[in-house]
Amino acid sequence: MSTNPEGPLFSKVVIIGVGLIGSSLALNIRKHRLANEVVGVSRSADNRAKILELDLADSVTDDAIAAVSGADCVLLCTAVGAYGHLAEQIGPHLAPGCVVSDVGSTKGSVIADIAPHLPEHAYFVPAHPIAGTEQSGPTAGFESLFRDRWVILTPLPNTPREPIDKVVALWEACGAMIDEMDPLHHDRVLAMTSHLPHLIAYTIVDTATQLEDDLKSEVIKFSASGFRDFTRIAGSDPTMWRDVFLNNRDVVLDLLQRFQEDLVNMQRAIRKGDGTFLFDRFTETRDIRQSIVDARQAGQFIPTEGDADDDEGRS
Ligand code: NAP
Repeated sequence: MSTNPEGPLFSKVVIIGVGLIGSSLALNIRKHRLANEVVGVSRSADNRAKILELDLADSVTDDAIAAVSGADCVLLCTAVGAYGHLAEQIGPHLAPGCVVSDVGSTKGSVIADIAPHLPEHAYFVPAHPIAGTEQSGPTAGFESLFRDRWVILTPLPNTPREPIDKVVALWEACGAMIDEMDPLHHDRVLAMTSHLPHLIAYTIVDTATQLEDDLKSEVIKFSASGFRDFTRIAGSDPTMWRDVFLNNRDVVLDLLQRFQEDLVNMQRAIRKGDGTFLFDRFTETRDIRQSIVDARQAGQFIPTEGDADDDEGRS
């Protein structure tokens, strides 16, 4: 375990939902000694046993209300659909000065669901790590998940700088880079880079499941030619992604409309034999890919929500 020369950031951190993201955070909090005490909240007895076995927390409970007593940091790491109810439960029990943050993939809905339930003496700092895999649960986490990845914070206008800076320090200790933006802008950017690609992957794989049996078995056999990457994304947690689409509905529907129009343009070019149109579009998309590799967000780096780089070197 490495030491933290400046002392821990927090005294008691509670992680509610110790899945892929929560357990990866726990590994970092433990390794870098960012807290004196870590408490995990999980509904399942099996998961609670695994959390202790993996030494992700000092203690575990299924009682979120009891867990937050005396905590100076609470991290909500469940699927976003559970945040509102959890905030309503824990809100009255938060200690003065407690920093509440989350990792949810949508931000407008998360703020609307959580903020009204928190007392004025607690500070809410919404956050979203742009890092993940298709795995879930407490055994899925790994310490390097956030290294060199972006974490987007969408602070509320009246939040003082000190709790925001503590959340920044938490993520920087995990090796992440920080950006701050308006929550609705976040939801628009992520709808394009993550939510729409997941929807397309789910749809393509769903289309394949409707094929007649002999064709379907050959799709699986020869999947390496592109389909495999879609199946990886479409293997992501159904609860998490159901909640993402229901909680970023308007933005996703708007982008889906634009995507459908662009798809029709591609369809028309193929039907008309318009090779120039196709070549030009594919050249543009290749340039986009290169700029993402140049920004060190693809290639030999760890995967993120919605990208297809898993086979290229997850550490
Ligand atoms: P995950 O692996 O499925 O973990 C979520 C955990 O939350 C589950 O293990 C579950 O554990 C617990 N949970 C679920 N509902 C709960 C409830 N009502 N009360 C208490 N605990 C509950 O999910 P994840 O991938 O870590 O995602 C967690 C959050 O991170 C989501 O909001 C997601 O949008 C966001 N996110 C995910 C990714 C990604 O790529 N996966 C990336 C960035 C952000 P128990 O059953 O043991 O309670």
